[in-house]
Amino acid sequence: MIKLVIVNEEKCNPEKCAGGQCIAVYSCSWKIIEQNSPYDKPAIDLKRCLGCGRCTFTCPMGALEVIEK
Ligand code: SF4
Ligand code: SF4
Repeated sequence: MIKLVIVNEEKCNPEKCAGGQCIAVYSCSWKIIEQNSPYDKPAIDLKRCLGCGRCTFTCPMGALEVIEK
């Protein structure tokens, strides 16, 4: 079992994030979370995610969730 973080598409709502910017992008030191443009939902490259969980604390909607795979 390894831990990964996924974006819960139902909970993620960039409209509620300042300027449509995903603050979680800046929480990942490895730059694994990417947001193409403001107001887009972010994407996490699951092949590179370390599952550290740091980003999960930054999303005000609780949209980043740790899963085990
Ligand atoms: S993951 Fe969280 S912080 Fe990032 S855009 Fe979605 S709701 Fe906003
Ligand atoms: S769990 Fe860690 S490695 Fe994965 S996206 Fe979040 S901060 Fe980055």
